[in-house]
Parts: sequence; C-alpha cells; structure tokens
Amino acid sequence: MTDLLSLSNLRTQFKTERGAVKAVDGIDLTVEPGETVGLVGESGSGKSVTALSAMDLIDDPGEIVDGRITLRDAALAASLLDEFGNALVPYPSGLVEAVSSLGGDLRAGNRPRNASAELRGMADDLDRDADPADLAADLRDAADRLAEGAPPEDVGGALAAALDDAADGFVYVDDDARARLRDGTAPSDVEIREGVVDVTSAPEAAVRRIRGGEMGMIFQDPMTSLNPAVTVGEQIAESLRLHRYGGQKKDSWLNGIREILPKIGGRKGDEEVMDEVVRMLQAVGIPEAKQRVNDYPHEFSGGMRQRVLVAIALACRPNLLIADEPTTALDVTIQAQILDLIDDLQEDFGMSVLMITHDLGVVAETCDRVAVMYAGEIVEEGPVEEIFHNPSHPYTYTLLESIPTEDKERLTPIEGNVPDLIDLPEGCHFAPRCPWAEDRCLEGEIPDLQHGPEDVDHRAKCVHESFDKAAYGTEGVEAGGEADVGDPLVEVRGMRKYYQQEDGPLDRVVGGGDRSVKAVDGVDLDVRERETLGLVGESGCGKSTAGRAILHLDPPTDGTVVFAGEDLGSLSKSELRKRRKEMQMVFQDPMSSLDPRMTAGQTIMEPLKIHGLAEGHRRERVFELMEAVGLERAQYGRYPHELSGGQRQRVGIARALAVDPDFIVADEPVSALDVSVQAQIINLLEDLQEEFGLTYLFIAHDLSVVRHISDRVAVMYLGEIVEVADTDDLFETPKHPYTRALLSAIPEPDPLADTGDRTILRGDVPSPIDPPSNCRFRTRCPSIIPPDDLDIDQERYREVMFYRQRLEAGDIDLDAIESEVRIESESSPAAVADGGAAATDEHPALFEYFFDGPLPEEARAVVAESFEHLKNDRWDRAEATLRETFESVCEREHPRLGERDHPAACHLHDE
Ligand code: SF4
Ligand code: SF4
Repeated sequence: MTDLLSLSNLRTQFKTERGAVKAVDGIDLTVEPGETVGLVGESGSGKSVTALSAMDLIDDPGEIVDGRITLRDAALAASLLDEFGNALVPYPSGLVEAVSSLGGDLRAGNRPRNASAELRGMADDLDRDADPADLAADLRDAADRLAEGAPPEDVGGALAAALDDAADGFVYVDDDARARLRDGTAPSDVEIREGVVDVTSAPEAAVRRIRGGEMGMIFQDPMTSLNPAVTVGEQIAESLRLHRYGGQKKDSWLNGIREILPKIGGRKGDEEVMDEVVRMLQAVGIPEAKQRVNDYPHEFSGGMRQRVLVAIALACRPNLLIADEPTTALDVTIQAQILDLIDDLQEDFGMSVLMITHDLGVVAETCDRVAVMYAGEIVEEGPVEEIFHNPSHPYTYTLLESIPTEDKERLTPIEGNVPDLIDLPEGCHFAPRCPWAEDRCLEGEIPDLQHGPEDVDHRAKCVHESFDKAAYGTEGVEAGGEADVGDPLVEVRGMRKYYQQEDGPLDRVVGGGDRSVKAVDGVDLDVRERETLGLVGESGCGKSTAGRAILHLDPPTDGTVVFAGEDLGSLSKSELRKRRKEMQMVFQDPMSSLDPRMTAGQTIMEPLKIHGLAEGHRRERVFELMEAVGLERAQYGRYPHELSGGQRQRVGIARALAVDPDFIVADEPVSALDVSVQAQIINLLEDLQEEFGLTYLFIAHDLSVVRHISDRVAVMYLGEIVEVADTDDLFETPKHPYTRALLSAIPEPDPLADTGDRTILRGDVPSPIDPPSNCRFRTRCPSIIPPDDLDIDQERYREVMFYRQRLEAGDIDLDAIESEVRIESESSPAAVADGGAAATDEHPALFEYFFDGPLPEEARAVVAESFEHLKNDRWDRAEATLRETFESVCEREHPRLGERDHPAACHLHDE
C-alpha cells in the first residue's frame, strides 16, 4: 500500500427531525502520492461532505459515524509522536485496517464469506507478534460467535469495541520503529520509515496540525472563504505561523513567547514569514506581490482572490490539496488560468490533489483517476480514460450523455432526481432513474464488478457486466432541422446603458470627471423571429444588462430597441406594460427569482392576474402551463423550497410562458443546474420554441450549452458586441481574438483531447468605468497589432504592451520588482538565467521581470530608455518614449463590427 490518503468505509450522517441524512454512506477511496483523483456527481451526491470529512471538518448536526481516514506520512507521524504523549498505536496499521473493515461490513448487516477464518488467521499472526492488549483473544471470540450464527451486527459491534480498547492512539509506525518505541526509546531517537496517521481517532489539537499543514483545501467561493477584514498577506502568514513557524503549540508558554517576540521588536521571525508570503503570492501569479501583501480581499479581482486561496492552501507545502469546486464560480477564461496554476504547482511541489467538481470537462483535463458518486456511494471508479471511454455504470454513462456536445442533435437527460438521503431505496440507489434496472437491482447488496482490461483497476457497482447503450437516448429524438427563422423581431441600434456613479464630496467640489459605468456601450443587434441568439462573454461584459435593457426592464440610456416594428422607447408606461406581455425573462437562479411565500401555482398565476388574462379559468390555464413545462398537477401547491432546482426552473419558465409571449430573454437559465437537469431544461426550451414559435435571446457563459441551443451567437466584451455569426461558423472559424480565447478555454470532456495550444488570457475584464480606448480588448489581446515598421515578434510585443499598461496605470513598484527577482533567482537560478536579462547589462532585474525572452535591439534600446526614466521618477517621459515606438493601431482606431455575414470588430478583419 502506498496511498497517501485513504478513506475506508467512511460514513457521515446529519441528524434531522425526519431521521439521519446519509450524506456519505460507506465509501472507500484512496489518493496516491502525486496523483490527482476526481470526485464527481450531481449536487447532493455527497462529494463535498466527503471532502469535509477527509479534513475532519464535519460540524453539528453532522458526524462521522463510521470508517477510517488515514494519511501516510512518516515525517508527520514522527512529529506527532514527539508532540503527543499517547499517540502510538501498539498494532500494525494493516491489521487494524483489516479488522475495522471486516467489522464495518458486519455492522452493516453483511456476513462476508470466510469471515471466521479471516479473523482466526489474524489472531494467529498476532500471537507471533507482540499483542499487548490481547486483541487475538477478542478476534477468536468474534470468529467463534460468527461460526455459531450470532447476528453479524452484534459481532461487528463487539469487534469495534475491542479495537477501540486495543488500538488506543492514532499514529501507526513500521514494525522496527514500533518495537523500539514500545521499549521506551524517545521518538526523536527512532528512525521512522513508515508512518500512518489515523485522522478519525486523532485529538482535535493533532487534527489542527494536520489540517492546513499536511492537507490544504481550496473552497468554491473565494469571497466568502477569505476574511474581508484581514489583509491577504496576513491571512497567508497566519497559516504559515501556525503550521511552519512554531505557532502550533498555542498551549506551550515557550511557544507563546516565541510568537510574541517578533511582534515586540525582533522582527527576524516575522520578516522570514513575510518573505515566504511574498514567495507564495508570486508562485500563484500575483504581480508585485510585495506591494500587494497589505491589500484586502476586496481589492483583488475574482480570479486573483481565487489565487490567494490557492496560496493559503499551499503556504505550508501540503502533501495533499483538496480542491472543492475550485473553479465553479469563475468564468471559463479564469477557470483555465486557475487549473493551469494548480497543475504547475502540483508539479513544482509534488503534491496529490483530490479534485471535487460537477464539471466533467474539468475532470477529463486534470485527473488521473475518477470516482463517481451517487447518493452517498461511489458507484464507479477507474482511470480517467476508462471512465470517459468505457463508462460501465449506467449513472456515469447517462451523466456523460447529458453533456451538450457538437454532434448531439438532442440531449438525453437523466430523468428524476437524486433520492432523499434519509429514505434511500433498497438495493441500487440509482434504480428509480436507471433505464437498465431489473428486479434483482431492487434488493440486497449490489456487486462491485471489474471492467476493462485485467491490469486496470476499474470497478462499477452494478449488476450488469455490460448494458445495451444503442437504444438509449433515441426515444423522442426529432431531427433538430433548420429553424424556420423569419424577419428581425427585435432590432437594437446604438444601445447604451450607463450607470452614474455616486460622486464623493471631493468630486462634487473639484469635479470627478465622467464616472459612469458603461455597462453597455453602443450595441447593434437583431434577433430574428423563431431563432435563438446566444449572447456570450465573461462576467462583467454587460450581457445581463443588455438583456434587461432590451426588454426595457431597465431602459437604455441611449439608442433604440424596436420590437415587432415598434420603438419601445416611444411608448408610454401603460403601453409598455401591455407590450411587455409579449416579452418575458427567465432568470438564472430560480431560488432567488421565485417568491418563497408563493406556491408554484400562485407564481405561475401571478402574471395572468397582472395582465387580466384567462379570467374565470386561470387555474386550468396554470395546469396547462405546468403540463407544458413538465410539472405535475400535484406540484401546484408546493413552495420553492419543496421543489428541486430543475423543477424551480420549470416554474420560472411556465411563469414566463403564462402571458403567451413571442420573445424570451433567458439569462443564464441553466447555469445553476447540474448537467443532467440542465439537459432537461435545454430540451424543454427547444420543445417550447417549436410548439409556440418563440424567439430567444439566450445569455450564457457556458459555450457548450450556447453551441447546442443557438442558431446564431453574438460575443460581447466590455459593453460591445465584438463578433456575430451563425453558430457553426463561429465555433469552427472564430475570427475575433477574444472569441478564439473564449473557445480555447472550454474544458473538453475527453481526457484524450489535445489542449496543448490553449490560449490562456491574462488578467480579468477591465473596469467599465474607464474602459481601454478604441479596441477594448487590446489590454489582454494576444494578437494586438504592432506598428508596421517595428521588427518584433508577437509575444515580445505583447509583453511590451503589458509593461506599458502597467506604466500608464502607475502600477509599478521598482523596489518590489527588484526584491521579487532576487527571491526568484535565489530559489531558481537556472530559470532566471533564461530570461531576457541575459541579453543586456542595463536594468537586468526589470528586463527579467517584464520579458520572457530577449527583445530585438531597437525595441530593447527604447524599453531600456523608458526604464531609465522610470528609475528617475519621470513617469510621463517613460510613457511618451514607449508610445512613440510601440503605439498600436488597436489603441488609435476603434474597430467596427461591419456589415458582413460574419462580422468581427477587430483590425485584423477590417473590411
Ligand atoms: S444495479 Fe440495476 S438499477 Fe443499479 S445501475 Fe445497475 S442496472 Fe441500474
Ligand atoms: S483590434 Fe487589435 S487588440 Fe483588438 S482584438 Fe483586434 S488585434 Fe486584438
């Protein structure tokens, strides 16, 4: 056994008034050193509870009720033995593991074959070894009782009690070390070759040492995981002090004094910690880390905050990183940055990763092995290629089938929902949703069968060796066919939506300039009858604002929106209200967009009342709508919290349909849903479009979904449309560099896909208060156009422009850069020697910092001159020097979208 982390027979439950919620129900999982293991499944499958259990972070009313969590780490074992008096377990880890696993099976009511013989064998082995607590006698007693037919639950309980008494302690070591320790040798004098720590039995003080020290964790939402009142540097330092700089023994007076000393004068220790903090921030790609250690979380962008979380998790160089949906809250571009970062750091630090995610694309790209969870159990496990190319459990197969891909005309969702974890179905928990269920699936233990090549560990918990996939998903399939698209129903011209910023008192006196947020800035767009126009772009690009402005829910500041031949801006309030009947919106989060005090039926009926429709037979009309969106009549009286996410979204759609609209703006309607439920809603939207001749503006950041559902796609960046094309055309031949970067960042749900030439954009979307001049993408564009007469390759030119941007923003701290380059050269001299500095002896640190390779002579001379100005605090001259030589057409001239079939607002594609 070489696994670093091992979970065996883990059961975690939450007490509720209705009974115990079995969130994790007897799983076995291992992570080897250096390995990345993915844990996937729908919401409610138990993934995150597994992660929290592994860190021993389950709080009331939750409890780990059974099973073991162990970490294999000799150094950790040695230090815990040193620190905690009664930590040593006087028995080998393998034996305790075997007894505990057998006991777990028995307690669950199973009677494994040969259990008596196994117990006797273990007892015999113990006789030959030391057996300080006479465990052998208990094992023989259990074997006899089993042979006599005693209930397995009772025997299992007796075994657990015997183990508890005998294996007091939580650190296991190899036989030689154990013998010496038991002889009374001090732990510091014993060489420990193998050590295993039982996290489940360790006292809280020891677990705190392990958590954040040996195991790091990244959570989903960086804003809620960081303390807003503490600087990011201090948050990383806190973890370092606790785990690496002697702060862990808070109870020891000597350590208390050690901790205080640096703060009351001798700064040595703290300086060391802060140097390490800077190093960590650099490692996770925070520029000028030294300058930013004193910033607060709100001063960082979303992507940067997630990097800070990675830095905190890795500050103590953990052997294991548990990443719980680390990129779910991020855009695809930032997701690509963070996954790339975790991958690089994993290689540098040699750690293992347990990656918890519902995104199968992320799993395919990052993991070596995958475990698929359903209703608290692992139902399939194997190497990533096997799971994706030979899925052998019906759940895994149907989950993969529900992902939108380019070749699927229609998606095949998994019908139904994850079962109630209090009242799980007998036999296979997936049976109520499984198309291949048989009578034998409905009771008893389901076997864990081996699949794939013999030398590969690929198991699935299902009665079938194989199942017939050919018939799956063919039912109800209708050829999508070409949509019968008509004339433009919505015509948007020059639409702007600005929000005025509140001026501060100083601004009011001296004049604050134009502080308006230019959320939408000059959009021209047509949406044609019966088509679906996808609108994509990162968060902060103005997609949702554009959707609301088109519907005049939040009327535009400027420009026109013509709907069915009528200018909405020219209508009175009451005329607009009447018109709005024909234009509806479906929102992203059905939980927050539905009134929690209204039942599904009341919610759907509300617009009928507002618009005075279907008087006298409103209830019937609501039932018709419920049927149209796949809700049952019985759900009429249910409140939002009594419905699943998919059902709530159906209510939102039925509500929008109630007034019989022609046009629907769907704002991220499936983003909050699991892939299986997402497929149900996408199919529903497609069916409703066909049935009622609807026109959709479909706003989404998930490009695979957009590709599947849209006839045409418009790409938005910082308030402007930068490209519009038919869907196939856009995905096959994207023109705008932003579209190309977005498409290249989509994770491929295929581990064999080649993603080597992926474009990873730097940074985030700039602020819409002061967007870059002319081409707004120019501050991130990998293809920004150099002046005709300049001899420079694209990559170096991009680097010059990044340097110019920093200079113009006044965002360069020369001291911080010098120290950063020094720290880097100390830790990796070879890497530094490769940089651009080798080519020059002027300003080597600055060249090293800003450039990854040597610049051509002319360009280098100009950059060197600007560095000189900068060092002499002549920022204006530094800027002017650079502008003279490096100014790009992209910053001088605004690229226009143009009138062609497939227009792109980029000078590389000027008409
Ligand atoms: S055991 Fe039966 S119900 Fe469960 S996944 Fe297999 S076929 Fe389906
Ligand atoms: S105009 Fe220039 S900066 Fe803008 S996208 Fe095109 S190449 Fe890039």
